[in-house]
Amino acid sequence: MRTPCDLLLTNGQVLTMDEAFTIHEGGAVAVAGSSILSVGRIEQAYEAREVVDCRGRVVMPGLVNAHTHAPMTLLRGLADDLRLDVWLMGYMMPVERELVRPDFVGLGTSLACAEMIRSGTTCFADMYYFEESVAAAAAAAGMRAFCAQTVLKFPAPDASSYEDSLARARDFILRWKGHPLIVPGPAPHAPYSSTVEILRACAELAAEFEVPLHTHLAETALEVEESRRDHGMPVIPWVKKQRLFDARVLAAHCVHVDEGEMRALEDAGAGVAHNPTSNLKLASGIAPVARMLALGLNVGIGTDGAASNNDLDMFEETRLAALLAKATAGDPTVLPARQALAMATRLGARAVHLGDLIGSIEPGKRADLIVVDLDRTHNVPRFGRDANAVYSQLVYAAKSTDVVDVLCDGRWLMRDRRLLTLDEEALQAAARDVARRIDAFLIAREQNVLQKLIAIGGASEQESFEVQVKARLDSPETVLTELAGDDITVIRAVHYHQYDIYFFFDDPSQGRLRYREDEFLDEGGNVTTARARLTLTGPSREAAFGSVLLFRSRFFAPATHSPRFYREYFRPAHEREVEKDRRRWQVVYRGVQFYVHVDRLMNPFQGCFLEVKSRTWSRRDAQDKAAIIMELLGRFGATPDVMVEGDYVDM
Ligand SMILES: [Zn+2]
Repeated sequence: MRTPCDLLLTNGQVLTMDEAFTIHEGGAVAVAGSSILSVGRIEQAYEAREVVDCRGRVVMPGLVNAHTHAPMTLLRGLADDLRLDVWLMGYMMPVERELVRPDFVGLGTSLACAEMIRSGTTCFADMYYFEESVAAAAAAAGMRAFCAQTVLKFPAPDASSYEDSLARARDFILRWKGHPLIVPGPAPHAPYSSTVEILRACAELAAEFEVPLHTHLAETALEVEESRRDHGMPVIPWVKKQRLFDARVLAAHCVHVDEGEMRALEDAGAGVAHNPTSNLKLASGIAPVARMLALGLNVGIGTDGAASNNDLDMFEETRLAALLAKATAGDPTVLPARQALAMATRLGARAVHLGDLIGSIEPGKRADLIVVDLDRTHNVPRFGRDANAVYSQLVYAAKSTDVVDVLCDGRWLMRDRRLLTLDEEALQAAARDVARRIDAFLIAREQNVLQKLIAIGGASEQESFEVQVKARLDSPETVLTELAGDDITVIRAVHYHQYDIYFFFDDPSQGRLRYREDEFLDEGGNVTTARARLTLTGPSREAAFGSVLLFRSRFFAPATHSPRFYREYFRPAHEREVEKDRRRWQVVYRGVQFYVHVDRLMNPFQGCFLEVKSRTWSRRDAQDKAAIIMELLGRFGATPDVMVEGDYVDM
């Protein structure tokens, strides 16, 4: 009497990817409902509703993409060959703030699912905004996913504050927990984009609902350097101190971790997602995965988002993981094909905390299976001498397009390379539409320096107007004597060291952007505090009153990034640097507030200059102030000389 079952895959080379790496030549897998009933030479024992002959093919567990941002398929190829900060803060995040809505997320995820199913992935670990739309699209496509709702300290496309995004994460978990395909969870984006409160609250949330937590850790050397600077320790001990490991953590990247940190991750039962292509493409480095594996860490393989890869092909990723580990160790025996494939299946499943359900073909586990055709030209011939040869075949020769059938949770998602749950043509057409909208947005923005400044956040859109004059100064002492006079009231005096970098653009109507670092000096000439600011001086003068200029607009923003970031982001046509010692007085003369600057230039040349300026708000007011400025200049013994700010650098 045969046992009834729903599906029987017969005559395949069944790679179970279990702990013993059991292979059943000409074996079968019996599936009932969503689960694997039995595996081995068992076909005689079952009576199936559907029998699929897998002769010449490999039957193996579906691949687990341990880290991605599925909706970012819609941003594929949008901005490449950029540094991580410029790419993320300059392009991804501004575009996401502008365009990411639930429908965008749903469409991007559906497109990602089509691509992943085609390349043999049945489960992915995701992190994005509007994560409920990721979950809904994945479930509709029939894929399994650990979906984590992003929590950020900055305003995000789906939350204006971190309290909002936390509330969103809680709500998402409440509604999706218990779903047969979806595991919900919180995702504090990364330590550098979180606060201590965010890390703790997310860990508590994950612990409360017994769901995993998804984050990016130690992705770049800069992140580690800044963690050491700001917290006195590298990234892993820092997040541990914030009790992040109270949750079951899935940590993407872990590129820059030392032995002690790897042990800490292992102790905490954290999973690691290795993203070789993304780490190479963004030049983040190469994670020490061979060492991690030796220490017993569960290391899976991820593609990361399509914007930094630029595809979701786990075959490619697995091959790269194996090759990179060999090259970095200088040892071809490191990370053999079998172990690499385990990372893409069983270890990946454990890394995303789904090891009990998936990752190997074992009775009781979910029926997430793929069938791979190894009879194609690039896979021929095959050898039988070494049982491990099939792993080499799959990792070093096979392509994702060799995947012919995909089953997830006992349901066919692809048969003979035809997708059964998604309309690829419709998805492609919709994706092209979105690309047109993104293009239009970025084309408009890239043409406007102010819009670019606003896009990276922090720029106040308010403009201010001022009248000002600059002049050569032969004797700064005259200024000091005059400022001590009875009719000039000094409100405030400051002394600082100033480093300016001026960015000039081909189109002069864009104005010029100044990156300025001020080091405030005390009476002894020691630096007390420092600050960095950006000023966009609008399209030059609107009017000149004699030697006095009226500036039309100035936009300010705190400079939170390095000059290198701004250089790569704004791509100026050319730039100049100015270094000077500045004494600044805020004075009242004839009832009007002025700023008086005495600048001693140190670079590009030596010399003293005087600058007198005042805020203004109308042409009439500017004219009145211009007259007073000329009078002050006379008293200071300076020769009026039209010099626009920044002209130091043009001389
Ligand atoms: Zn990522």
